[in-house]
Amino acid sequence: MLTTPVKNLVTGGAGFLGSHLVDRLIKYGEEVICLDNFFTGSEENIEHWIGHPSFELIHHDVTEPIQLDVDRIWHLACPASPIHYQFNPIKTAKTSFLGTYNMLGLARRVGSRILFASTSEVYGNPEKHPQPEDYNGNVNPIGIRSCYNEGKRVAESLCYDYMRMHGIDIRIARIFNTYGPRMLLNDGRLISNLLVQSIHGKDLTIYGNGNQTRSFCFVDDLIDGLILFMNSPNIGPMNLGNPEELSILQITNLIRDTSIKKVNLKFLKELKDDPLKRKPSIYLAQKELNWEPKIMFKEGLSITRDYFTKKLKF
Ligand code: NAD
Ligand code: UDP
Repeated sequence: MLTTPVKNLVTGGAGFLGSHLVDRLIKYGEEVICLDNFFTGSEENIEHWIGHPSFELIHHDVTEPIQLDVDRIWHLACPASPIHYQFNPIKTAKTSFLGTYNMLGLARRVGSRILFASTSEVYGNPEKHPQPEDYNGNVNPIGIRSCYNEGKRVAESLCYDYMRMHGIDIRIARIFNTYGPRMLLNDGRLISNLLVQSIHGKDLTIYGNGNQTRSFCFVDDLIDGLILFMNSPNIGPMNLGNPEELSILQITNLIRDTSIKKVNLKFLKELKDDPLKRKPSIYLAQKELNWEPKIMFKEGLSITRDYFTKKLKF
């Protein structure tokens, strides 16, 4: 018996996470409409699908409404790296609020399930560690990160209100720091900065004393989690991330010690509103999705380094 393939809309599908998700969905035999305004995404990330019968690319900004016929919406469109989301903070807030509003409106019109890519940034500078989903966070509402973290918080709130008022089938994923191939080389984030610096033989930059922590998840693990979550009956919010917590200093030392070129550490002024620690509690995802990351940081880092080395043609 022939079944009609699932029609997916992936907003932000030309970005880092979105393009890996597109790859996976098409490999599963599903159809994908990739919608992107190419602010931080690139055609290179999805060019291997151009011309494929299951793939369609739409150049569109999610702050504008759109009518499409789809079964599932994966709403990822939003710049994720601090330098990109702080480049035009008003636009970032608009993307979070209006973009999510438009996508929820579309989900309502066509009756599709919608997964919203939220973030660990909703926990701000956490006083609770690790962060479980029922922790309400400690966010500065007027700081330089608030366009992003408050934007994501209001978008989560919109998702819940659309569910309560209109019965929309929502999924809220709180994604923690993720890394891997297709990260932009110049996105100013820790992993990309340090890898590019190490490949060029330059000093590795540490903001502050390096005692702040993060928990980095390899992209393939994260995509597994997103797909399991979308296919599950849970609505979330659900943390998806790797609980392997490391200090910035530990990460920098690891990259220095495995660098082909000899590099030194360089301490710079700490960033404003930089969260001091971050580690997901993934109890819920383990219990409900039977999911946990498989790729340890050292392994994922080496895959990412190979990608960066190729991109930089070293
Ligand atoms: P990314 O910047 O690589 O991808 C975002 C994509 O959205 C890009 O292709 C960009 O061009 C597109 N986009 C931005 N604004 C848009 C708009 N107004 N209209 C249409 N397209 C737009 O970032 P990413 O790392 O792939 O993140 C994807 C999603 O996951 C984001 O919503 C981000 O907040 C969330 N997230 C990512 C991480 C992470 O570590 N990568 C962590 C937490 C949450
Ligand atoms: N960071 C650093 N050096 C860099 C880039 C980032 O020390 O060159 C620090 C940054 O201050 C933060 C952590 O690394 O404490 C993670 O930064 P990233 O931008 O990757 O993610 P986010 O802060 O959004 O979690």
